[in-house]
Amino acid sequence: MTYDTSLLDAEIKDLILEAVAERNTTLYDTEKDVKKVIRDAVKAIAIGIASGVFSIGSREKKLLDAAVGKIAAGIAEVLSGRMSATITTAAKPVTVPLIEAANSAGLGKLNRSLEVGFQKRELKVFENLWQFERHGRTLSARIWDVSESAVKEIKAILEAGVGQDAVQVARALTAYVKEDAKTWAKNYPNMQARMAGRVPGNVNYEALRLARTELTTAYRDSAVAACINNPMVRAIRWMLSGAHPMQDICDDYAVRDYYGLGPGMYPPGDYPDLAHPNDLCFPAPVSIGRKALEAKLAGYVEDQTSAPDVGALLEG
Ligand SMILES: [Zn+2]
Repeated sequence: MTYDTSLLDAEIKDLILEAVAERNTTLYDTEKDVKKVIRDAVKAIAIGIASGVFSIGSREKKLLDAAVGKIAAGIAEVLSGRMSATITTAAKPVTVPLIEAANSAGLGKLNRSLEVGFQKRELKVFENLWQFERHGRTLSARIWDVSESAVKEIKAILEAGVGQDAVQVARALTAYVKEDAKTWAKNYPNMQARMAGRVPGNVNYEALRLARTELTTAYRDSAVAACINNPMVRAIRWMLSGAHPMQDICDDYAVRDYYGLGPGMYPPGDYPDLAHPNDLCFPAPVSIGRKALEAKLAGYVEDQTSAPDVGALLEG
């Protein structure tokens, strides 16, 4: 993942890079966790299969149904924890320096209110993500959908094993979530043949895509929310991810000057939504500068009408 970091605001560059690195580590860790949730559910099916000649009876159907619930609960738990961590991380580049500036401007007494205000915002971002409907489905419903679709892949494997020795089927199932499709097809040629040429899909694919999209959205939404009415923020820059293989809408967002603030710069309230699934672009705040911020905060204490954004921020 490469970004043109020379574009970042020098004063808060390290904080931004730290936050994005943390987001990317979280994405990686979450993928591992989601894969494990699915692997564990598959293991439980493999263990539960009746011995002898394999068939899909009521016992196997029950195992598959239980797997949907187990996967959905597991993904929801993983995502919930990771999203809330990412939300806090994303806000830091514009919360930490603001609180420091308030301290050095002799306004430490404002800090408790600022902290509470930002915490409220972070909580709101978290709640909104769970309530938000994509294609008419809330996040919980979408988690259920990807769990069902993972179990559908698992069921296809089981169907290919009907009539074979159950031990072999259980082994093939466990191998399926560990190996890539090609290796699996090579190791279990009979089952692959019985899938009538249908290349087995990746059981994790949809769940991983959902997890990645929710986490990058959580980061985006929180980074932007922390900038709104934030007296230190001048604009937000669209930082283009170097991971784009082709030109897409992100390239446009990163270079066009829509608001007269400079190429790729947006007022916090008008920062674009995540452009596409798996997008790793990120919002980078641009500050008014430490000196100007301290002057603004000092001015606010003298005369509250001088900096309405500070007032709005304190009101949450
Ligand atoms: Zn992008």
